[in-house]
Amino acid sequence: MDCIFCKIINGKVPVDKIYENKQIIAFCDHHPQAPVHQLILPKKHIDTLNDLTVEDSALLGSLIQTASQLAEKAGLAKPGYRLVFNCNADGGQLVFHIHLHLLGGRPLGWPPG
Ligand code: 5GP
Ligand code: ZN
Repeated sequence: MDCIFCKIINGKVPVDKIYENKQIIAFCDHHPQAPVHQLILPKKHIDTLNDLTVEDSALLGSLIQTASQLAEKAGLAKPGYRLVFNCNADGGQLVFHIHLHLLGGRPLGWPPG
């Protein structure tokens, strides 16, 4: 499968890795949109949020919990941060392997453009 994030998970494409366990990997986005921009994703390939099943519920919970721990480590817990999943074209999804964006380090504004 030609998935850039699966290649990263398999060590075929180098990244600035922040965290890894059996199910999850986190690394710095290579085109950061904020002073802190990390990607947290499951090692299991899932194309989009539309493809989640009830079996993925615990994995999704772990992704969010990992993201909040990484936010704390990056000093974002108090000032605040944003977690974002993009889905399909209107959501701005470019990589079709679900991933959580952790953004922070500046006021992010709302609503997004
Ligand atoms: P999406 O638009 O799909 O939600 O976000 C994909 C994100 O992955 C983008 O912010 C993009 O900069 C990042 N990205 C894409 N390819 C790579 C890569 O090879 N390495 C890293 N570190 N980030 C990537
Ligand atoms: Zn993948």
